[in-house]
Amino acid sequence: MIPSIERVSTLIDRPRIEARIAELGARISEEYAGRDLTMVGILKGSVPFLSDLMRAITVPVQVDFLEVSSYGGGMESSGVVRLVKDLSHPIEGKNVLIVEDIVDTGLTLRYLLDVFAHRKPASVAIATLLDKPEGRQPGTPLLPDYIGFTIPNRFVVGYGLDLGGYFRNIPYVGVYHPPEEDE
Ligand code: 5GP
Repeated sequence: MIPSIERVSTLIDRPRIEARIAELGARISEEYAGRDLTMVGILKGSVPFLSDLMRAITVPVQVDFLEVSSYGGGMESSGVVRLVKDLSHPIEGKNVLIVEDIVDTGLTLRYLLDVFAHRKPASVAIATLLDKPEGRQPGTPLLPDYIGFTIPNRFVVGYGLDLGGYFRNIPYVGVYHPPEEDE
């Protein structure tokens, strides 16, 4: 079933997202000055964030993608992370910046950090548009290096984040209110 956009209420509007990405891009450009930077977008949710963030970065970057799946299409994480598509190029000796849409339990990041550590990059850092620190599971990374916005423990959609594959194209971040909330 196609979910209704009427159930989405704005949490972070587009001007705020744009302003914050400009700040993050400036910070990343400063911190990676003179170094080789490889941005790794985690498909599919990171696509809008990655495409805006890379254009806010002034140092030379390379871009690659990796796809993982942890949500079975609904609002609850299955807790099991699966590699769906691997990188196209080796990252040995590279400064890698993982670009995520949201960090919730931290299980996806823990999995990715583990996968990457075996490939001997020069460094690994994490940029996420959204952080839900209340969702963190024990033993998972607490703090991404670059955070767009810290948000409450609500299910959000838009700006890359989906519900059953829909809503990724909404140009802002909103809270999805499921029909059960009406009861
Ligand atoms: P984690 O492994 O940290 O629990 O979650 C990471 C992934 O779960 C994200 O990349 C995203 O795909 C999904 N996720 C976590 N929280 C939300 C949310 O509030 N909304 C949506 N649409 N996806 C989420």
